[in-house]
Amino acid sequence: MLDDHSKERLRSIVGPQWFLDEPEDLATYSYDAFLPEFMPETVIVPGSTQEISEIMKLANEKIFSVVPRGAGTNISGTAVARKGGIIMAFHRMNKILEVDTDDMCAVVQPGVVNADLQREVGKYGLMYPPDPASMFVSTIGGNVALNAGGPRGAKYGVTRDYLLGLEAVLPTGEIIRTGGKTLKNVTGYDLTRLFCGSEGTLGIITEIIVRLIPLPPAKATLQAVFSDLDDAAKTVSAIVASGIVPTTLELIDKVVLDLIQDYGGAEFASGAEALLLIEVDGEPSTVKAQAERIEGFCKDRGAIQVDVATDPADAERLWQARRSAFGAVASLRPNCIVEDATVPVRNLPAMIRKIVELSERYRLKIGVLAHAGDGNLHPLIMTDLQDKDEMARVDKALDEMYETALSMGGTLSGEHGIGIAKDRFISKELSPRAIELMKGIKKVFDPNNILNPGSFL
Ligand SMILES: Cc1cc2nc3c(=O)[nH]c(=O)nc-3n(C[C@H](O)[C@H](O)[C@H](O)COP(=O)(O)OP(=O)(O)OC[C@H]3O[C@@H](n4cnc5c(N)ncnc54)[C@H](O)[C@@H]3O)c2cc1C
Repeated sequence: MLDDHSKERLRSIVGPQWFLDEPEDLATYSYDAFLPEFMPETVIVPGSTQEISEIMKLANEKIFSVVPRGAGTNISGTAVARKGGIIMAFHRMNKILEVDTDDMCAVVQPGVVNADLQREVGKYGLMYPPDPASMFVSTIGGNVALNAGGPRGAKYGVTRDYLLGLEAVLPTGEIIRTGGKTLKNVTGYDLTRLFCGSEGTLGIITEIIVRLIPLPPAKATLQAVFSDLDDAAKTVSAIVASGIVPTTLELIDKVVLDLIQDYGGAEFASGAEALLLIEVDGEPSTVKAQAERIEGFCKDRGAIQVDVATDPADAERLWQARRSAFGAVASLRPNCIVEDATVPVRNLPAMIRKIVELSERYRLKIGVLAHAGDGNLHPLIMTDLQDKDEMARVDKALDEMYETALSMGGTLSGEHGIGIAKDRFISKELSPRAIELMKGIKKVFDPNNILNPGSFL
């Protein structure tokens, strides 16, 4: 519980206009995209690392919790004040501090929106590859804390693969720097990567150095529609086995396709049961040859329609279906639970079949979106959190879904993190000793457990 003296100190550290405690402010920050509701006691918006350091020293002395928060788009419930205390937001710390074209990196503050960074580095012919579907809203700080991935992950990997260095404020208020601008660095433990995916539990990230790569000179986008989900899955395997590494290889199943059509997001050939959205990039001659081979793979495996974009506007049109998917599924029922089970790519067809079976057996409306190129599935459970009977069936389906994913050598989360959404499953994937080690790490960083307490550990 925050006492009056702490509130006064916080107000004077950030300035009164950045200390928010009106009921509507607290309500706004009481949930994230997972939709739990935990009312913070106050919301503060610091403007510098120094201010954050002072706030953390106070929190550590008075023992109140602090939850860092970017855009609040996470779907695991990790940016809410589960134990009261304060929410710390970063929309004042949203500057791109440097684009270094010699060392091919950028230095940014945590509140920079992913798409703004993409746009800025694009002006220099450079690319920041991690592209979560939430990139027009989500922040680089949130992306680092959850190790976000995206459709380009099949070829380019995830946030962790582009992280060179950090500045962070520890829960005790000390400021540390990890890594730097060099591409190689093996001085001591890799603290930079330890922060990545730590769900805001180890420190407040205040500056981020990310690696950039040259923008590929050419790109081709294909959309293939199948009348059989298995044919689409076999095409994914054929593409992966061919040695072509697509930038993007997304799969959408019939449930989601029907909803996209009803929603007015896009239209598909009649009888569409699955769609693949495929992108390749690189040198123009290679891209052309790869696109032709992929078109062949699709047609040979029964695609009923294949569109190949010839210019950027056409490519944007093909992306329209994928981009409208979340809006379409969210429109059906009061709630949509976005899951994140991830399996080795070869198990993708079997995992999708399991999800279809669970949806029938438990009488649930489940659609599937998948970053198929890296085995990352997003089963979308359209439900109503208030319906106790249905939620009991959702829980049983989730238990089975994660047990199946783990039995295939998969993981609970490919990119969304654990948070409170999946903390009950964590011991199914990690051994007691691994969990104990993680708790030990947390204790070293945060002896009083004030930073994002009650998260996945
Ligand atoms: C429609 C939709 C599509 C999505 N698509 C994708 C996708 O394709 N790929 C993907 O990976 N995710 C996706 N997500 C999930 C989400 O957008 C990502 O996890 C994103 O990285 C969260 O960023 P954020 O700025 O919203 O962070 P928040 O949700 O605000 O916070 C996320 C975590 O980061 C911590 N945090 C935030 N800032 C800091 C900081 N400065 N220091 C320390 N910790 C911090 C928070 O405490 C919390 O634990 C999607 C979400 C939605 C709603």
